[in-house]
Amino acid sequence: MMKNLTLSIETMTWNRESHGLFDYEKTALKVINTYKTKIPTKVIQTADGCEFTNDISYQSDNVLLDISTSEKEFIIESPSQEKFWLIVKNMTSEDFDGYKLSEGDYMRVGRVVLRVKEIHTKFSNISAKENGAIEKFSFGNICRFCLNDNYSDTNLLIAPCRCTGSMKWIHYKCLQTWLKSKIRIKQGRSVACYSWKQLHCEICQEVYPLTFKVGGKIHELIDIPRPSEPYIILQDLRGQRVLYCKIYIISMSKGHAIRIGRGHENDIKINDISVSRCHSVLRFYGNSVYLQDYNSKFGTLVKAQDKLVIEKNTSVAVQLNRRVMQFTTREPFNILDMCIGCCKRKGKVTPSILNVDEKPSF
Ligand SMILES: [Zn+2]
Ligand SMILES: [Zn+2]
Repeated sequence: MMKNLTLSIETMTWNRESHGLFDYEKTALKVINTYKTKIPTKVIQTADGCEFTNDISYQSDNVLLDISTSEKEFIIESPSQEKFWLIVKNMTSEDFDGYKLSEGDYMRVGRVVLRVKEIHTKFSNISAKENGAIEKFSFGNICRFCLNDNYSDTNLLIAPCRCTGSMKWIHYKCLQTWLKSKIRIKQGRSVACYSWKQLHCEICQEVYPLTFKVGGKIHELIDIPRPSEPYIILQDLRGQRVLYCKIYIISMSKGHAIRIGRGHENDIKINDISVSRCHSVLRFYGNSVYLQDYNSKFGTLVKAQDKLVIEKNTSVAVQLNRRVMQFTTREPFNILDMCIGCCKRKGKVTPSILNVDEKPSF
């Protein structure tokens, strides 16, 4: 048990229930609750704010957070499995403003979630990444598309679906060409947007795998050219339920900002009422891509771990549905801290390690 470490909790609740959104502009419509604790605590949601209790036997559906303590940290969990989203606004990473993106991150603009599918920050030609690859190929048959039986290492005959007999085999390139005709491509200055409805065999209805693997080499059925300069690929997850795919291939060059928002002037235009006209910005700095908020109404967020771990001398700001919360730990004041403390950056937000457990779905 920690003797000295105190956790300060500050919550702010928006008075409207609206798609898990929090309005960062209208401060008048918020209820603020604060609490300080050294011991296990429960945060309870009320109609318009939060209450706190140290009675750890307290049971109710209204328990919003369970805060436990260990040797050196506080552990914060949501019993209802509500997701924590890190607030990008005012966030500072080690050497640059904003949140440093990694592959597998989920970022949120308003209520729209984008997944970071790929990041490449060097100038080079790269090969496709593995994505649920399936091994499926054979020789000595004819292509159902061009009726040829020739094949090579770069143009294999594959059996991508459940069709049998003379319909079983198709050239990789023939299938790729056919699939390409189903894809809508919009090319902007720095961003190419590819979108398509789920791609399946028109005879047996089997959904085509987007990648397959032969002899350790991965082939992509959808030919997406990667830029030779640093780039990031984002996938818009809105269409997932209706099997609609949309991805953005974004070229990042030094100092150049990629704007995300609802307005026409943006590099990535997202048509959703919860997205501000200019909402967020992506910047390339050092060898990393940073996400910054652009004073958006409903915030720029990044999905945090299911459990928040608050160590000594940290401050973490998260959004949980229509609430924002700041958890801060500071050592009790002493003269030594005052000397060391002045060299440290105050109010630094430490992003948690992010979930990458969800299977990539392209
Ligand atoms: Zn063919
Ligand atoms: Zn088929």
